[in-house]
Amino acid sequence: MQTLSLTEKEVTDLVRVPEGDYIIARFEGDLRGPTVLVFGSIHGNEHSGVKALKKVARELERANAATTGDVYLIAGNTRAINKNVRYIETDLNRHWTPENIARNHPDARIRIRQGEDIEQAEILAIVSEALSRVRGEVYALDLHSTSSKSTPFAMVGDTIRNRTFAEKFPATFLLGIEEQLDGTILEYMNELGAVTLGFEAGQHTTEAAVKNQEALIWLALANSGAINPGDFPIERHRAFLANAMGHKRIIEIRHRHAIKAEDQFRMEPGYANFQKVRKGEVLGHDLRGPVKASEKGMILMPLYQLQGSDGFFLGREIKQFWLKLSRILRQIGAGAWIRFMPGVKRHPADDLSLIVNTRIARILPLQIFHLLGFRKRRWKGEKLVVSRRRHDTKSPFTTSG
Ligand SMILES: [Zn+2]
Repeated sequence: MQTLSLTEKEVTDLVRVPEGDYIIARFEGDLRGPTVLVFGSIHGNEHSGVKALKKVARELERANAATTGDVYLIAGNTRAINKNVRYIETDLNRHWTPENIARNHPDARIRIRQGEDIEQAEILAIVSEALSRVRGEVYALDLHSTSSKSTPFAMVGDTIRNRTFAEKFPATFLLGIEEQLDGTILEYMNELGAVTLGFEAGQHTTEAAVKNQEALIWLALANSGAINPGDFPIERHRAFLANAMGHKRIIEIRHRHAIKAEDQFRMEPGYANFQKVRKGEVLGHDLRGPVKASEKGMILMPLYQLQGSDGFFLGREIKQFWLKLSRILRQIGAGAWIRFMPGVKRHPADDLSLIVNTRIARILPLQIFHLLGFRKRRWKGEKLVVSRRRHDTKSPFTTSG
């Protein structure tokens, strides 16, 4: 295995991506391997993603070993990457709503698009083509970095398949962030049935963020079975990432402080990711006055940049016991029984959703629904709508699950 030492020019070139030229590299595996799609820099100012994808692409090209699966290394928001901004008109990682996807899908008739619709349409065409060739499990990764200094961490949509994959990484992971955000690309991939993992590699501009991304990509390729671990220095990458992460924790996201530009939200200075906070602690200010922690826990992803719609998140560590219990409950299909509880009924238009009246929602905390694989969707008047994922325990792409 050759090691890379890049010249100054090569490093600069790593960031440049021609507009609309998403595929950094594509490798075809043998007949029965998995398909792995890795997206980097879907937020255009997070250059570590594209840099790491290019470095991994070069090493894979130079290696003598072939991949066993199909591997797609994909640049995210190409137009924003070149301007070094998070997005052009709208956040591409909040753009994957069913309405936008229908409008920008290759099957749609619309041909004139602008802003992030262009990027989305082009990426959708690549994803559709990749999925039409699938011959095994599908994995999707999304690489990010943070505005404030942070140790790296992973983000996992709460399905049993995602959790099983995430547990193979020496990583702290946040569970349930998808319940707080609408329209992420990984949410779209989850709905299609892929196993997904998001990654925050550290502070945007640091060299450490690029190295962490690289280590994560290599581990993902090995853990998914897309490469043979014996052909590449996987243990070195594992040790590197374990060292960068510190101790491994699983943290449940409990609260998101959503902001709009007109709120003029400003985070109090000095908060680090994972820092403990007390209930009522003043975390920032906006037009209406101080913004306080709604509960005790730890602060996650405090916003120290201008663009963005998440002020901060609050989370708490979850114990292994609860994770094991929920795995058992979901595997035996216990979620199907909760609809017989008083005050809980099936959604008339959606077989995966339940409508829970507020009186019951107060007695049955959201955590019980989480255990059974439901997540909060929205409040509909006095009713809470919770939904289960279609592909929680079984893959639609493989017969063995
Ligand atoms: Zn990001």
